[in-house]
Amino acid sequence: MDHITPKKSLGQNFLVDANIAQKIVRAFDAGPADVVVEIGPGEGALTRMLAETAGRLVAVELDSRAAERIRTMFGSRVPVVERDVLEVPLGELAAEYGAECLRIIGNIPYYITSPILFHLFEHRTVLADAMLMMQREVALRLVARPRTKEYGILAVMAQTYTVPKRLFDVGPRCFYPSPKVTSSVVHLPFADLDGIAGIESVHRRIVRTAFNQRRKTLRNSLAQLLPEQEERDRVFTHAEIDQTARAEELLPQDFIRLARIFADEVAHRAG
Ligand code: SAM
Repeated sequence: MDHITPKKSLGQNFLVDANIAQKIVRAFDAGPADVVVEIGPGEGALTRMLAETAGRLVAVELDSRAAERIRTMFGSRVPVVERDVLEVPLGELAAEYGAECLRIIGNIPYYITSPILFHLFEHRTVLADAMLMMQREVALRLVARPRTKEYGILAVMAQTYTVPKRLFDVGPRCFYPSPKVTSSVVHLPFADLDGIAGIESVHRRIVRTAFNQRRKTLRNSLAQLLPEQEERDRVFTHAEIDQTARAEELLPQDFIRLARIFADEVAHRAG
């Protein structure tokens, strides 16, 4: 079959190395009980092998030409949701296929890597894991440790909601057309860190605010959220966090503790 003419605007770099496709699908190891959602199947490089092992496989593809190709290749064996993945309510999809949890896989379009990750984090209660190919640079940010320049919002969020593991790199020549960057395959089994339940939005706000001014001390970067010095002192002391530290020095667990005490303080203030 001819290649679909790639659209740069849709992040189309098709995987053309069958060995790499096989390596990804083998590492994912889908079984007969799994309901798998593939994000952006494109020309079906991963789909073909996934369809052989996954109990149920559903594809989400925005490009009508690619969606049509998947329908032609697999018929009713692989239903296609022809939509922007960021607008797909994954909970409804899980319910439709009778799955408690979905498994996600995809060589994802790089122009929306972060939005896709945040979309998955938001739907984590209906997800078991995700196997994603992304730019190596983003993969390194997901697994980054504190006190490194890669450690930021993505690392804290990924390590709060998943246990990210970078499995292997894939060179540009494995794709058509070749991207400018090296890619990595990352596995993200969903598992919340203790204490995050119920404080997700406060936590997100604190992490974003702290890292948006990452060179400032926490005392300064979080001043807009906690304007009163006295209040700030109370929160930091109670959370056992040094106000003169910078965001990149805090572990994901530290952000959860800070968010919980911050939420209590704000509730106290309101009440
Ligand atoms: N999985 C194929 C492969 O490995 O060869 C294609 C990967 S290509 C990097 C990304 C795919 O995601 C393309 O098929 C593209 O059309 C699709 N895509 C782009 N934006 C999308 C979106 N917002 N929602 C769903 N699919 C999208």
